[in-house]
Amino acid sequence: MFDKKFLIITAHPDDLEMGCGGLVAKINKNGGSVTNLILVKPSVEHNVNRDEQIVRNELEKSKSVLNFETAIYDTPLYDNGRPNLTLTNNLISYAESCINEHEILISHWREDHHQDHRVCYDVARSISRKHFKQFWCMDEPPYNLHYKNFDCNHYVDITDCVDQKRQALESYSTYFNNFSIDTIIDYNKYRGSFLGENKVAETFHLMYNKI
Ligand SMILES: [Zn+2]
Repeated sequence: MFDKKFLIITAHPDDLEMGCGGLVAKINKNGGSVTNLILVKPSVEHNVNRDEQIVRNELEKSKSVLNFETAIYDTPLYDNGRPNLTLTNNLISYAESCINEHEILISHWREDHHQDHRVCYDVARSISRKHFKQFWCMDEPPYNLHYKNFDCNHYVDITDCVDQKRQALESYSTYFNNFSIDTIIDYNKYRGSFLGENKVAETFHLMYNKI
């Protein structure tokens, strides 16, 4: 399983780290590979502490911790410079061009309250069935607080990969603070308790399995 080629479609740099940073570290340890298809290119944010270059630098730092490749969509922008991510044929075609030899697809969950995350789900859903052996949706804290129909049916033990996940999250030092990182890791510990004492887990909804 963890020696396979994973394609992870997220909206922003930092989503992969929140939802499945431990999994990505585990895939690395087991000889697999990960490409993160990021659909919202780093752009000027509302946050006064961040700009495009800062986000790109933080992404590079995280990549050096978790060792994954990236493909970044040239997202159209609104007049005010904010990204305009909508489901178009161009976007689907771009995502299809990134499929290559990837076997397992991961993305956000359809009930996410962030509109860009929901577009990622739609893109992943559109390209999933023809090309991939499995399609997983992330149980992504803190966005999962709003999920209503998420069936948490797939657990990944990341007990040995928590340090790398925390380090990858810390790469985004203008976005996460200790509280937000602890919130994510504490949720992973709660989910890990379903596996056993002192276990840590990331969880997913397995949409289908053709392996
Ligand atoms: Zn996001």
